This record gives sequence, structure tokens and C-alpha cells, in this order.
Amino acid sequence: MVREQLAGRDIGSAAVLRAMRRVPRHLFVPEARQRNAYEDTPLPIGEGQTISQPYMVAFMTQALHLGRGDKVLEIGTGSGYQAAVLSQLTDSVYTIEIVEPLGEAARTRLQELGYGKVQTRIGDGYNGWPEEAPFDAIIVTAGAEEIPQPLVDQLAAGGRMVIPVGPHRGVRDLVLLKKRRNGKVVQESLMAVRFVPFTRKNRP
Ligand code: SAH
Repeated sequence: MVREQLAGRDIGSAAVLRAMRRVPRHLFVPEARQRNAYEDTPLPIGEGQTISQPYMVAFMTQALHLGRGDKVLEIGTGSGYQAAVLSQLTDSVYTIEIVEPLGEAARTRLQELGYGKVQTRIGDGYNGWPEEAPFDAIIVTAGAEEIPQPLVDQLAAGGRMVIPVGPHRGVRDLVLLKKRRNGKVVQESLMAVRFVPFTRKNRP
């Protein structure tokens, strides 16, 4: 997976490749899907949600340019896989999931697999995690129609955010947003992507 799908494409960060090599993706997907866990594809994780394609996890992680002491917030815990990957790059990982059974299962899984340092929360990630702000990096793993302002507000000066943005259920732009040292916010579009939708209410 790492050699062909990541290093063979444009994942050049040795730290990201190492993190992707270390985290056992098959332990984050339902048993019936485990034999597909290292294929170049997203997989269902229950509740109508999916774990992103390995390449997308690596690409978004690389775009965050994490340093060891960086504090990172993920919106959309899902299986917990992306959070586990982030935890290989920094000790300070916070993640929020809106669908309670997924959030609970991910919390337990992260504990059991030795990623207990990851801080998990059930709730609407639109509002971020104000008590822990500011964050050096924010990664949103669900497709939003617009960039939630609370997340921009909770980004530290010098911080980076990656978020898929675009019309409901359509192809979205993977946006990299940076907050400069002087507070000015700039953004660029990295690629076209498809993601499960960012929701505001816990509905099936
Ligand atoms: N990062 C996950 C995959 C995420 S799929 C992994 O590695 O497995 C996107 C997730 O975002 C879904 O679990 C979905 O329930 C969640 N989500 C959608 N809208 C949300 C919101 N407003 N706040 C928090 N989580 C949200």
C-alpha cells in the first residue's frame, strides 16, 4: 500500500509514509472488509460512513505539515484511523464525531490499539473544540458546503486547515486554508475530491 499507492504517487514526506506504515488499517474496518483494507479505495465503516482511501489520508496529513509539538483537531473521527495516523506525527490529537455509535466505537478502538493519547469527543464538529483552541492544524474529513467559521477562528496564527468544500453530494475542492502570522487567511484548492457529507444534526 505504502510503496505503490503513496510513495509511488506524490506522498514524499518520510514522516507521513512512516506513520502510514505503522498504523494497521485492517483493525479500523469491519471484519468482513479486512481483506480489502490495504486496497486503493475507501471502505464502509457502518452508519452510512466511510474510511477514506489510504492515499487521501496520507495526502491530507501531508498537507498539514505537522511538527512534533503541534496540536491538531480532526472533525469526523469515523473509525479513528486518521486520528491514529495523526498520533504518529504529534502527541496532541483531538477528534470529534457527530454519530454517537461511531464515536464510541472509535474511542474504544483507539484505547485498545494503544492510541489512548488521542482525545475523542461526540458532538457537532462545526463548533470545533473551543476549550482546547487554538490548534496548529485542523483536518475535516467530511465534505462541507462552506468552511465553518468557528474552525477558522480556532486556528492558531501560522496554522493550516484541510477541508473538502463544495455543493452537497457533489465533487468538492480539497481546500488548504492557512492563517498567516499576521492573522490574514489565505486558501488554495489542492484537488477535486468526493467525501461523505458534513452534517449538522445527528440524523440517520
Ligand atoms: N476520518 C475517518 C473517516 C471519516 S468519514 C476515518 O479515518 O475513519 C466522515 C465522518 O465525519 C463520518 O463518521 C461522519 O459521521 C462525520 N461527521 C460528519 N459531519 C460531522 C460533524 N458536523 N461533526 C463531527 N463529525 C461529523
